[in-house]
Amino acid sequence: MLAKYLIERALSRPERVWCLGVLLLVAQVAADEPETPAATTSPAVIVTPEAEEIHFSGLLFDGHNDLPWEIRDKANSSFDRLDISQEQLQLHTDIPRLRRGGVKAQFWSVYVPASTAETGDALLQTLQQINIVKAMVARYPETFEFADRAADVERIVKSGKIASMMGVEGGYSIEEDLSNLERLYGEGCRYMTLTHSKSLSWADSATDEPRAGGLTEFGRAVIQEMNRLGMLVDLSHVSPETMKQALAVTKAPVIYSHSSARAICDHPRNVPDDVLPLVAENGGVVMINFFSAFVVPTEQLKTNKLARGTIYDVVDHIEHVVKVAGIDHVGIGSDFDGVPRLPEHLESVATYPRITQELLRRGHSREAIHKLLGGNVLRVLKAAEQVSDELQAVAR
Ligand SMILES: [Zn+2]
Repeated sequence: MLAKYLIERALSRPERVWCLGVLLLVAQVAADEPETPAATTSPAVIVTPEAEEIHFSGLLFDGHNDLPWEIRDKANSSFDRLDISQEQLQLHTDIPRLRRGGVKAQFWSVYVPASTAETGDALLQTLQQINIVKAMVARYPETFEFADRAADVERIVKSGKIASMMGVEGGYSIEEDLSNLERLYGEGCRYMTLTHSKSLSWADSATDEPRAGGLTEFGRAVIQEMNRLGMLVDLSHVSPETMKQALAVTKAPVIYSHSSARAICDHPRNVPDDVLPLVAENGGVVMINFFSAFVVPTEQLKTNKLARGTIYDVVDHIEHVVKVAGIDHVGIGSDFDGVPRLPEHLESVATYPRITQELLRRGHSREAIHKLLGGNVLRVLKAAEQVSDELQAVAR
């Protein structure tokens, strides 16, 4: 978590290296935080039996979890060193807390730093991250099983295991070669974020100067190939111009695996209001990120850059996307184990039922809650598979 975040900050804002020290402190505090820190300022969320029933009967499918990078960074890529069958409070994620949180399906991020685009080992490191996820599934077979397709997700969830898919974070992992996309698909990757914190030759990042003017011809070819393969196009991290151009090209619905609403928190990583209707039109889904810096309302961040925010802010983001794009176009993409600060009452993967509780309190129906917990992203996955099947049938 820490290394990833510091690398991202160092690369995206080299002029502000001074803040790394502050972040280091904050991140260390966050890492040592117990699940429910004493110092909360907002009212606790008490999960009622009704909310619990709704939560655990739904299919919670989270869009983005960075545990694999944490295992590399903190445990030398070894589950012997960090055995997640036990609670590991220096992480946001372990098996006991995944179970308490009611996680049924997860996209595990096989993130590698944007600097690998310069060092030339982006694909190699991505394959190493994939091996970490494979080692996890092999080591804990009673808990995890890989899902190839949406139907596998449903089958695995019914069997009581956590359906696992992988997501590539940063298009530099394909090293400007379309055949690497097919290889990553073959390894089990089911989405790719077009960029990370830095712009690529073919797609622009939200947190860097534009290089591609949105998407280049190669960038459009990447999207077409993802459509053909049935790999979801993930628009988290890209610039608004890249979002719009990608939405114009893609034949399949897109996802934002971990982004929130810019109207509430004016951070370039969030989705602007003028893009949300395009996502609705496309049939896609915005999976809300929990990172405090993407969640805390703009005015509040102006007075306190390190404000944590609360679960209530996160539910405001969910409701904003529901209001602008509709209930069919919102999901959950926590970014657990990828961020140094989390809102009050959302400290780990054990806390998801509190979101269901707060949505229920605000009057959302059981059906609506089930859609946003995971029904929507499962629908998107099925639609992308259908597009892929059709494109491959035409090619035959
Ligand atoms: Zn990210």
